Amino acid sequence: MTADALRPANLEEPRQLGEAEKRDLVAALRAILPGDALLIDDEALRPYECDGLAAYRRKPLLVALPETVEQVQEILRTCAARDVPVVARGAGTGLSGGAFPLSNGVLLVMARFNKILEIDADNRVAQVQPGVRNLAITEAAVPLGLYYAPDPSSQIACSIGGNVAENAGGVHCLKYGLTVHNIQQVKMVTMDGELVTIGAQSLDAPGFDLLALVTGSEGMLGVIVEVTVKLLPKPERAQALLAAFSTVEQAGDAVAAIIASGVIPAGLEMMDNPAIRAAEDFVKAGYPVEAEAILLCEIDGTDAEVSEDIMRVRELLLAQGATEVRTAKDEAERLRFWAGRKAAFPAVGRISPDYYCMDGTIPRKNLGAVLRHINELSDEFGLKVANVFHAGDGNLHPLILYDSATPGELDKAEDLGGRILELCVEYGGTVTGEHGVGIEKLNQMCSQFDAAELTQFHAVKAAFDPAGLLNPGKAVPTLHRCAEFGAMHVHHGQLPHPELPRF
Ligand SMILES: Cc1cc2nc3c(=O)[nH]c(=O)nc-3n(C[C@H](O)[C@H](O)[C@H](O)COP(=O)(O)OP(=O)(O)OC[C@H]3O[C@@H](n4cnc5c(N)ncnc54)[C@H](O)[C@@H]3O)c2cc1C
Repeated sequence: MTADALRPANLEEPRQLGEAEKRDLVAALRAILPGDALLIDDEALRPYECDGLAAYRRKPLLVALPETVEQVQEILRTCAARDVPVVARGAGTGLSGGAFPLSNGVLLVMARFNKILEIDADNRVAQVQPGVRNLAITEAAVPLGLYYAPDPSSQIACSIGGNVAENAGGVHCLKYGLTVHNIQQVKMVTMDGELVTIGAQSLDAPGFDLLALVTGSEGMLGVIVEVTVKLLPKPERAQALLAAFSTVEQAGDAVAAIIASGVIPAGLEMMDNPAIRAAEDFVKAGYPVEAEAILLCEIDGTDAEVSEDIMRVRELLLAQGATEVRTAKDEAERLRFWAGRKAAFPAVGRISPDYYCMDGTIPRKNLGAVLRHINELSDEFGLKVANVFHAGDGNLHPLILYDSATPGELDKAEDLGGRILELCVEYGGTVTGEHGVGIEKLNQMCSQFDAAELTQFHAVKAAFDPAGLLNPGKAVPTLHRCAEFGAMHVHHGQLPHPELPRF
């Protein structure tokens, strides 16, 4: 196998369907769905060629847009009976290729499941369909004094089903937890069409904690058709600080110092100089463009808590060598501080024809050292890197700038991205932060996990989906792939479990 064959999108597809099989499949799906809910024309399929990992494109065999749970059940049963793979898709904002379609499979788009079924303010929960946008939940809950805490930067577009499948994070997750900590129950249809309820309407559910297993399972265990999310009361007050540093190491150390002090900010984000300049140029947030790094720190809570913690953090930041610390005077300034951070990805998109967003996590105490290493790698590969990320969680998002029109640059960007993820593992971190593995990080999973662990992951997948038809080839690499990638020990030419399926 060549190095090229190990690029993220170079996946073996399951068997191809013959013409007669395709006709039979289309006829069977037409009997389940109304005419406008089945897309088969080339032009109609084009918008579904890729997700947020847009460097890779492939047209699905067809797109199904179900609207009811029964339709989802029937579609899955129909596909299972014909050995046809299925990829679920929410809003398609995923950055690791989780919803990358199969040319011989059905893309099951959940966009029409877009209703908020109930908001129970007394119990602070909401039952929502999976296609509901993340931000729409908060918008519906705000009149009741409530909100949904996990806030991915893509929250205006991404769906709650996609959030559960990726265990999405966001600025607020440092204090309020990831998606897994903010949901209570999921209803999901398995590949054989069974509707299962996981979790409960109470805080604990009997049996194994399958809710945590399903959260972050990247559409490989079942299709989520309903989610019960927890809602929180809107805090009385929120205030933000902006601190400038002359080195990224100092900013990294300041993050560790804030957490060590016992203060838990509602958000603690870092941007390095290329990201600061790009964001300032784009949204005029008033960022200090000479700073090598800035930290944005938000404190929320009661009036008294916020006043006290803001003072403490301010002193800490100055003690850690901040050259400037600004406290937002009012709500308008607080929103301006965040506007630059929230627009940082599109801002970087303005200064480079293409960028590749990586996602890995490291222990917070290593932030300074890892960022220095990333700079060295950036010089070695000759590609600029802008860093804008959830510093409080140690969740890095290096944005690798490249030009896909220059031959070989995409490959180089991917190789640099792979090296950065391996660096995260070397520093005791993980290759996944919040964007999942998808097709993007399959090779790095081989560095993170050994053969025995990967074998167990395949066994979990097989327990839900024995035929391996739901989102095959994503998230968990085959042992063959790892052996080819060179990140697995092969004894006398034998893979530990050669009988495992090659998805
Ligand atoms: C500009 C930008 C900023 C981003 N910022 C963040 C961030 O701050 N934090 C963060 O966590 N992510 C972020 N993301 C990534 C992305 O928005 C999240 O991963 C999000 O959770 C994906 O949701 P989606 O609805 O778009 O899912 P999709 O991309 O459609 O799918 C993602 C995965 O979920 C599966 N899936 C989708 N719906 C279902 C379902 N109903 N049942 C079963 N499986 C399903 C798919 O098969 C796929 O594996 C960002 C993306 C962009 C483009």
